[in-house]
Amino acid sequence: MCPIYPFQLQGLEESVVNKIAAGEVVQRPHNALKEILENCIDAGSTKISIVVRDGGNTLIQVQDNGSGIHAEDLPMLCERHATSKLEKFEDLAKMRTLGFRGEALCSISYVSHLTVTTMRQGDGHATRTVFRDSKIEEGPKACAGLVGTTVHVEDLFYNMPIRRKALKSSSEELSKVLEVVGRYAIFHEGVGITLKRQGNQRPDLCTGQKDTTLEKIRMVFGSQVGSNLLPFESCPQDSSNGSTPSTSGGELQFSAKGFASSANYTAGRRTVLVLFINGRLVECTPLKRSLETVYASILSKTSKPFFYVSVTMPTEHVDVNVHPTKKEVHFLHQDDLIESLRCSVEKAVFSSNDHRTYYKQT
Ligand code: ADP
Ligand code: MG
Repeated sequence: MCPIYPFQLQGLEESVVNKIAAGEVVQRPHNALKEILENCIDAGSTKISIVVRDGGNTLIQVQDNGSGIHAEDLPMLCERHATSKLEKFEDLAKMRTLGFRGEALCSISYVSHLTVTTMRQGDGHATRTVFRDSKIEEGPKACAGLVGTTVHVEDLFYNMPIRRKALKSSSEELSKVLEVVGRYAIFHEGVGITLKRQGNQRPDLCTGQKDTTLEKIRMVFGSQVGSNLLPFESCPQDSSNGSTPSTSGGELQFSAKGFASSANYTAGRRTVLVLFINGRLVECTPLKRSLETVYASILSKTSKPFFYVSVTMPTEHVDVNVHPTKKEVHFLHQDDLIESLRCSVEKAVFSSNDHRTYYKQT
């Protein structure tokens, strides 16, 4: 009889484990870019320039003016779980940085050709290092450069033919890349972000350090959205009955601000919720659905609203470690928070002058 399993039970080689893990963290170019961008922000950058080729499929290059990387850190830069952001498991509850797992560069080095050029303030020169499968393949070599770090990722999934074939067309990948970059550009005040396709003079996106949130929303989502937004703020008192909601596990604590589209915005074909929780770009379908209900009686069925929401809550109320790409977080008091936000949006929409032009459904 044929054995069901072809091999005896054994531990996988580290390189196989790393390659499997890499495929979870980096699924498409925009996942890699999000990780690289988060590293720039964690490094205190105020200017970030991105160049992509084929929507990121064959090149993603990100240059920042952040802290740079210590020369002595380079040998372990791409080792799995090597991070300068977390020491103890308990620190996870008070994470202030976007990164914490030390997995991104490692993963990227397993599925692409990765070169890192970096220089710190006071260094006499920059250094360029090529990484492959988490180890240094070439360098570090001295080179000219500016303070900051440039991460150059070529030929994503060159060694994973199935994954490579599954990549979408350049234009589809580019639109996902623009979506991620645009959202980070809106959120991060004081950070200017440029995104260009290689060979193009004109950038696809260019935000300045001094641009306001509203200006950046207009740049990224267009003037139809930007001209029809109502600001709102929210805190735990904003639930419908006026009392502070509380559930088991302590009190709901948060502050939130954002923009919701007014009834005059009728061009939306799908609901857009740009949500940041403690500076993390995340998805939350229940919140999206709840905010949509505010518009049920005032927009036609085919018009969908737009929301930009930034929530700040105690770091210990958020579990950031629930998804390989960190696109989901779990947080305490989710239902109460959603209800507070819904009430605040409702107040903003119904107290605006725009309500006179509301479309009534029959
Ligand atoms: P994590 O962000 O979870 O620590 P990464 O693999 O993304 O893991 O990065 C590993 C380490 O490399 C970071 O902890 C940081 O020390 C360093 N690093 C990566 N990118 C940059 C950058 N742009 N500027 C400065 N340091 C960086
Ligand atoms: Mg990181």
